[in-house]
Amino acid sequence: MAEMLRSRNIGVTMLVREKEFWSNVLPLHEAKLISRHIRSHHVSLKLETELKEIQSDGNGKVKSVITSNNEVIDCEFAGITTGVIPNVEFLKSSAIEINKGVLVDEFLQTNIPDVYAIGDCVERKYDLPGRRKIEQVWYTGRMMGEVLAQTICDEKTKYEPGPWFNSAKFFDIEYQTYGTIGNQLKENEQEFYWEHPSGVKCVHLVWDKSSNEFHGINSFGIRMRHEVFDKWLRQRMSIQFVVENLHEANFDPEFFIRHEKEIVNKMAAQFPMLHIKALPVFK
Ligand SMILES: Cc1cc2nc3c(=O)[nH]c(=O)nc-3n(C[C@H](O)[C@H](O)[C@H](O)COP(=O)(O)OP(=O)(O)OC[C@H]3O[C@@H](n4cnc5c(N)ncnc54)[C@H](O)[C@@H]3O)c2cc1C
Repeated sequence: MAEMLRSRNIGVTMLVREKEFWSNVLPLHEAKLISRHIRSHHVSLKLETELKEIQSDGNGKVKSVITSNNEVIDCEFAGITTGVIPNVEFLKSSAIEINKGVLVDEFLQTNIPDVYAIGDCVERKYDLPGRRKIEQVWYTGRMMGEVLAQTICDEKTKYEPGPWFNSAKFFDIEYQTYGTIGNQLKENEQEFYWEHPSGVKCVHLVWDKSSNEFHGINSFGIRMRHEVFDKWLRQRMSIQFVVENLHEANFDPEFFIRHEKEIVNKMAAQFPMLHIKALPVFK
């Protein structure tokens, strides 16, 4: 919404409850990078600030908002984007079992035979490693659709989404995430963060400290290949393997400046115990 309004040169103030933009999901480095980028697009980003009140102009239109810091911000439009909740109210009086979402089994079937649910409204009844029970992204909706289509066509198929992945775009910065990389490092995890001096590209890798198994990657401003990371995650490859083969995951090396050498060599220097082969740098 902010991006669309800015594209029409309309002033935007964005209130964010967290310390940095989306820091409830992104590690702090990445959240800071995106916060900076949002500000570079002349959005007045107010962190650790919540909406307290919307004030009317007396004619049914918004006049201003009051923030949790008691700041009054004059405005002509207020957009509220506080998250996604499955809209399952209308099912409460039905026999379909619901919790936060519509409860489904591994075939995406509800408690009523031949009644299925897919997409944002779904809550899985069962656990899948590294995955949440409600996953409201386009990719999961598409995968569920593909799986259910097979079941409907007499090819009963389980929903097995594999390793988590997602992508998005924040103004000019593309974001991709593969595997599990939370906003906080877990006790058994180690991390490596690389940021380009431009401050608009970064790569963040997480792996298991004792086994060196690769857990996940966040990539901003560098487009990576989904199928490559999906294979490495399914095959439980080591962090050494992933870093040494990072060039294979580069989505469009022909069109963008490549940074594998800087990334690999910085990581090799920072983690000598991993014995990562440094790449030759030609001047
Ligand atoms: C601002 C925004 C940005 C997003 N960015 C990304 C992103 O970068 N990457 C990503 O993967 N995902 C993103 N998503 C999420 C993605 O859009 C959703 O996960 C996806 O659209 C869900 O598809 P769906 O078919 O389950 O639901 P929807 O697309 O919401 O479709 C549900 C449809 O059901 C209709 N409906 C609702 N109730 C009823 C009823 N009672 N009777 C009949 N019809 C009804 C609705 O009108 C709607 O048309 C974003 C979502 C938003 C809002």
